[in-house]
Amino acid sequence: CGIVGYIGQQDSKEILLRGLEKLEYRGYDSAGIAVTNHDGIHVFKEKGRIAILRESVDTSVTTTAGIGHTRWATHGVPSRVNAHPHQSASSRFTLVHNGVIENYMQLKREYLQDISLKSDTDTEIVVQVIEKFIQQGETVEEAFRQTLSLLKGSYAIALLDEQNPETIFVAKNKSPLLVGLGEGFNVVASDAMAMLQVTNQYVELMDKEMVLVTREQVVIKTLNGEVVDRSPYTAELDA
Ligand code: GLU
Repeated sequence: CGIVGYIGQQDSKEILLRGLEKLEYRGYDSAGIAVTNHDGIHVFKEKGRIAILRESVDTSVTTTAGIGHTRWATHGVPSRVNAHPHQSASSRFTLVHNGVIENYMQLKREYLQDISLKSDTDTEIVVQVIEKFIQQGETVEEAFRQTLSLLKGSYAIALLDEQNPETIFVAKNKSPLLVGLGEGFNVVASDAMAMLQVTNQYVELMDKEMVLVTREQVVIKTLNGEVVDRSPYTAELDA
């Protein structure tokens, strides 16, 4: 399983799909992408091979930012509905996740009594709880941070907000995730291999860090809100 994300100037659909193809070796049962443009977030997801996902993607959607996922099901059978990305009740937030949220049942009981969930995944709980905090008046960064601090288990997460398509929100704990740096674009990936097509400059993330990724900037913060300064390294791999 794996995660990719891209925000820049080029066609994000193609970069995400190629990235996911590079992560195929990690194993998966379904795959999906979500891309942003002027009329919102477009989600494409399918059970089975990335070749099937590729067929389902509407090539007329122009987009320069998005996130992608290959799923290895832990909660909920492999199916189109359980494939990531998952969306919040209002569809404002779209999220991909690798890992296992161990306390998802408890979070569901505590925060989501009134929500009818669309999937059987532990992952959907995360995006729904983020939206709950937004309804309570939190900013997206704060809603994301508060949700992350509630999670027990492992995660690599990438989140899109329809109302702020200029930022990809990212976080990790006990699942791999890197940020890749470019000129006028930035990327995220579970493995540098996925994004060597566009950059060989990567910044490692530590557990319980979150990142705000825009075209021009990458800001890493701890869950306490402290900004982290970390230099990139050059990935010495063959694409
Ligand atoms: N636990 C999540 C699910 O079953 C994510 C699995 C993964 O890492 O792909 O959907």
